[in-house]
Amino acid sequence: MVKKDKQKTPEELSKDVTAFSNTDFDVIVLGGGPSGSSAATFLSMAKKNVLLLDRARFPRDKTCGDGISGKSVKILKELGVIDDIHKVEHLKMHGVTFSSPKGVVVEISAKKKDSNEPPGFVCAREVFDNVLFQNAKKHCNTIEGFFANDLIIENGQVVGVTGTYDGKPYSFRAKCVVGADGIGGITARKVGAINTYNDHLVSALRAYYDGVEGMSDKIELHFVNESLPGYFWIFPLPNKKANVGIGMIVSDMAKKKINLEKVMYEVIEKNNLFKPRFANAKKISDVKRWQLPVGSYRPKVYGNGYLLVGDAASLIDPFTGEGIGNGLVSGKIASSIILKAFEKNDFSEATLSEYQTALYDEVGNELDTSYKLQKLVKYKFLINMIIDKANRSQTIRDAISGALIDPENQKQFHNPWFYLKVLLA
Ligand SMILES: Cc1cc2nc3c(=O)[nH]c(=O)nc-3n(C[C@H](O)[C@H](O)[C@H](O)COP(=O)(O)OP(=O)(O)OC[C@H]3O[C@@H](n4cnc5c(N)ncnc54)[C@H](O)[C@@H]3O)c2cc1C
Repeated sequence: MVKKDKQKTPEELSKDVTAFSNTDFDVIVLGGGPSGSSAATFLSMAKKNVLLLDRARFPRDKTCGDGISGKSVKILKELGVIDDIHKVEHLKMHGVTFSSPKGVVVEISAKKKDSNEPPGFVCAREVFDNVLFQNAKKHCNTIEGFFANDLIIENGQVVGVTGTYDGKPYSFRAKCVVGADGIGGITARKVGAINTYNDHLVSALRAYYDGVEGMSDKIELHFVNESLPGYFWIFPLPNKKANVGIGMIVSDMAKKKINLEKVMYEVIEKNNLFKPRFANAKKISDVKRWQLPVGSYRPKVYGNGYLLVGDAASLIDPFTGEGIGNGLVSGKIASSIILKAFEKNDFSEATLSEYQTALYDEVGNELDTSYKLQKLVKYKFLINMIIDKANRSQTIRDAISGALIDPENQKQFHNPWFYLKVLLA
């Protein structure tokens, strides 16, 4: 029986690493977050010899709101991990609460008629990513604690990755490399596709709290004066714990000279909606900050011998800040394009370019719509008006509820007639 990593001695793990450096893999996936674990698992399920690399050792934390949407749930089922998620600590999410700058609160329930399955859930990333990574590990070779520092490029073709493990240099080779190493990784940077544009980057921070009052089974997005044009969130976790955070577009922050952490405390301590709810709450973690590369920027996500997925491909929803769903989806699409490249035994950019088209056919409209919504939120009167209307109109609440229950229903938001209906509601 193959020993699990945790049961292996450091010497045995080092031997594996040396053996892997002498292996020609089919695919190397760099980064074991949701996007990388998704790509590695789909490729391995199709019998490809995959090496999944990450600088962290799992379980590891990832700065996030921990909200997992219906889009993610669909792929989690295909990856065969949904039962594992049900076994770990998480909160079943059954709707969303919005509030407007003038303090109108709208609660939207989302319950499936024919099943008890929640439309989404909230699960700390330390737990969630570990489930995905351990599942990938059942299917493919992995190295944790490998710090990639460069791509191996020969005759213009990416053919591998170099880096360090246990302080020693190693290189690994494959026919194709999937860059799933996020915005802080090396792949997007090395191939010139990194999103460094302040108009297309959101800065966000989060902390865990214990004892926030008035939480339910709904995630909460609050468009408060203090954080416009971004939002303040409270995502409930089990046992009265909550993921609390705030995010804003980097260029807006710079213009308004915003100190995000200060603003978060102002909302918690002074805003009438939240002051009573946080009166007895305790912060139980550090405040952690990270950047979100949003999908209003579209880099070239393919090239000779490589594809980019998830945050490395700048796929985060510009309005909601949700990136796990598109990370998982891009992992799946990338794997299908790589499988086609194997059929042709051709990993050139001409063949891999199909990924750009397939990816944006799937997520492009949604990203465009979200970018428009993100711009609308810059106008306080509009966000006040929309939330007022949602408060009054069952049609709007049903539309949002439907979109939470089934991601397919989100397509109505890409249709201009829907907004006319909202205006007339
Ligand atoms: C504050 C905040 C709140 C958010 N809230 C939500 C939310 O509620 N819901 C949601 O869906 N999305 C949310 N997001 C976005 C979400 O966190 C990302 O979109 C998601 O993590 C992308 O997954 P990924 O696999 O592409 O990248 P990551 O999760 O970042 O994984 C990248 C992996 O690559 C590894 N890596 C990086 N560099 C190297 C290297 N040099 N060598 C080896 N390994 C490397 C890292 O260790 C990491 O494990 C939020 C983001 C932030 C910052």
